[in-house]
Amino acid sequence: MQYIPNILFILVLIAGIGYFTKNVRKVIRNIRLGKDVDRSDNKGERFKNMAMIALGQSKMVRRPVAGILHIVVYLGFIIINIEVLEIIIDGIFGTHRIFAFLGGLYDFLIGAFEILAFLVFVGVVLFWIRRNVIKLKRFWNPEMKGWPKNDGNFILYFEMVLMTLFLVMNASDLQLQTLGADHYSKAGAYPVSQFLLPLFDGMSETALIVLERTCWWLHIIGILVFLNYLYFSKHLHILLAFPNTYYGDLNPKGELDNLEAVTKEVQLMMDPSADPFAAPADDQQEGEPEKFGASDVADLNWVQLLNAYTCTECGRCTSECPANQTGKKLSPRKIMMDTRDRLKEVGDNIDKNGSFVDDGKQLLNDYITPEELWACTSCNACVETCPVSISPLSIIIDMRRYLVMEQSAAPSDLNNMMTNIENNGAPWPFNQMDRLNWSNE
Ligand code: SF4
Ligand code: SF4
Repeated sequence: MQYIPNILFILVLIAGIGYFTKNVRKVIRNIRLGKDVDRSDNKGERFKNMAMIALGQSKMVRRPVAGILHIVVYLGFIIINIEVLEIIIDGIFGTHRIFAFLGGLYDFLIGAFEILAFLVFVGVVLFWIRRNVIKLKRFWNPEMKGWPKNDGNFILYFEMVLMTLFLVMNASDLQLQTLGADHYSKAGAYPVSQFLLPLFDGMSETALIVLERTCWWLHIIGILVFLNYLYFSKHLHILLAFPNTYYGDLNPKGELDNLEAVTKEVQLMMDPSADPFAAPADDQQEGEPEKFGASDVADLNWVQLLNAYTCTECGRCTSECPANQTGKKLSPRKIMMDTRDRLKEVGDNIDKNGSFVDDGKQLLNDYITPEELWACTSCNACVETCPVSISPLSIIIDMRRYLVMEQSAAPSDLNNMMTNIENNGAPWPFNQMDRLNWSNE
């Protein structure tokens, strides 16, 4: 009987970590649906980017209020959860505050955790006010209705509850230590939760133990639920921001990757000695790609799909986007959200059928319309501002390539320009023979 809590704890832990692992595998499987792209170069620079952008949050602080609040909440939340290690050991072995033997260091750690918990609570309340009372415009764009809006708030409530449970657990523990209850020997410093002690005046030792144990259990269960909630939420970025910044594009912004097959074709056209009927050289044997550009998620590369899962839905890209600012239909945040939603849909399809069964849908038209794609000025503002190195532009460009090269469906202005370039060597509708006419004026 005395081991029932330990066994129960181990079962809860296995269930929580097991379900999380299952979903992480799904995310990895879905990301691998993308086409291959080589990001194994410049490891040093990639590690530096990851350390600066994901860990150091260097791009977050470009907007100081949100940036500093985010750092407090992020670091606070992560550091406090170091305490989870103690909870896990206590839960498995039935001990209580196993690290108390650290003495002064333990007092310092628990004291620091409490201060951080308080700062996280304040930060989360301020975030909630910005979203729901001040109603920052970027949190109220059309794509932020329904689940994305609720998701943003749920996580804030979650963190408030977790921090409260942590502080009440500590406060009741402190009260039990003061009363000299069995198993509650003096350990830890409680600079924040000590102010909750008046709430416990008159409570019996048994009631305090029930309160402390309830908070302890709810705290660890809450953390496991939080861990599993990540898969369904934009908060997956807590984990994916690290690989995403590591595998980010290191080319200068504005440099577009060329389609290899098209490059070869152009080089052939430009080479007067080339024999268009000659058999391709060994290094060109791969032939034409099945499809030019992207109309669905499997046509994108795995980094673009990782980008989609990592998007924090912060909306900084959309707020900087000149197309969006001038009332066009385009929102780079929506491009990322749509890509992620479609990728999840394809993943669910695979889970259900064993392999992907055509569902008559695709990313183009069913999620992202040509009107959105053609509104982009390819200015790169979204890429520059993204705090986790996401490039909505690369997806837009690949989808435009599909429209132009597979469907000849560019807007008429662009078609005219491309025809002019083809016929006249310039975007204007004038014969090459006339190009020096201006000098006769
Ligand atoms: S590159 Fe396109 S989507 Fe990104 S900010 Fe510029 S116009 Fe908007
Ligand atoms: S793409 Fe980047 S900037 Fe845009 S919403 Fe996602 S995380 Fe924020």
